[in-house]
Amino acid sequence: MKICVLPGDGIGPEIMAEAVRVIQALDLKFELEEGLLGGAAVDATGDPYPEATRKLAREADAVLLGAVGGPKWDSLPREQRPERGLLGIRKDLGLFANLRPAILYPELANASTLKPEVVSGLDILIVRELTGDIYFGQPRGIENRDGERYGFNTMHYTESEIRRIGRVAFEAARKRNKRLCSVDKMNVLETTQLWRDVMTELAPEYPDVELTHMLVDNAAMQLVRAPKQFDVMVTGNMFGDILSDEASMLTGSIGMLPSASLDANNKGLYEPSHGSAPDIAGKGVANPLATILSAAMMLRYTFNNEAAAARVETAVKKVLAQGYRTGDIYEPGTTKVGTKQMGDAVLAAL
Ligand code: NAD
Repeated sequence: MKICVLPGDGIGPEIMAEAVRVIQALDLKFELEEGLLGGAAVDATGDPYPEATRKLAREADAVLLGAVGGPKWDSLPREQRPERGLLGIRKDLGLFANLRPAILYPELANASTLKPEVVSGLDILIVRELTGDIYFGQPRGIENRDGERYGFNTMHYTESEIRRIGRVAFEAARKRNKRLCSVDKMNVLETTQLWRDVMTELAPEYPDVELTHMLVDNAAMQLVRAPKQFDVMVTGNMFGDILSDEASMLTGSIGMLPSASLDANNKGLYEPSHGSAPDIAGKGVANPLATILSAAMMLRYTFNNEAAAARVETAVKKVLAQGYRTGDIYEPGTTKVGTKQMGDAVLAAL
């Protein structure tokens, strides 16, 4: 059981250190090997996804990632930017399914900017297609045409790409409340008309799951109006990017939210939903819980160890119930702790 650990940039190394301590405390005989991705890799090798990392990631059963990026690398040519490393590893490992749960822990109900009655008990899962769509479509670029600059990208999906992400979403819904909402923009974009058609064609294979469709603009609105109407949502790469960030803010803290990106064999890359938070990097105040909960998802989806996953999640719940809070989720009356102290508290709860 080999885990490739990629701390990345910004707060990445700080939050990863705590997740690694939690994994080691489980005493499950994992082999952990560390590599470089993103800005750290650019600094060391000039490549945001260097060959050594590629080899490590391919050989591992799972990859645990902190976060990449930061202002230091923003002016580099696009090909050398840290985000290219992230897109590269997802593509290289064939990670086409991104699972992002948005759960509101009762202790953190006040952290949401929405009224508690709208969000309390929220538990939704957004399944986002990760390797296709306008983010990867060719042709793309910025050119000079007719005396002015012209920017263009290409949105496309094949029916097999839609079908495989559809199956992941139907299966996920099956394990939850058996409701799946597919999100598209079929009134304007042909690619997403195909998306809706293929999802509809799949539905008879999952008679126990109720499939509905929603236009993305309405979905964005419904997520803040009445988010508890949703169980599992499935959508393409670009809409999923936006909606999953919106859903994460329903919970009040991006520092709490894990994510999983899976291939067809449940090999996965696990990472917090947030970025590298350069504004607080190096200060020892970042919330490590999203990364620790990402490790729990890794135990569940790749290593099929539900007991260990639940153990970690229960420890996190316990720590919240005990009143420990990093700055991002702090409220008066709770105990403010730093990254390492939060890790200590989780270890003690374990
Ligand atoms: P961000 O998620 O890094 O930060 C947004 C805000 O949330 C900041 O105020 C930050 O301090 C706070 N925050 C984020 N994670 C936190 C945590 N664990 N604990 C406490 N507070 C936390 O988003 P951004 O500022 O838009 O992006 C910063 C950099 O991260 C950029 O270079 C961006 O490209 C990169 N990024 C990387 C990923 C990734 O690696 N998957 C995702 C998003 C953004």
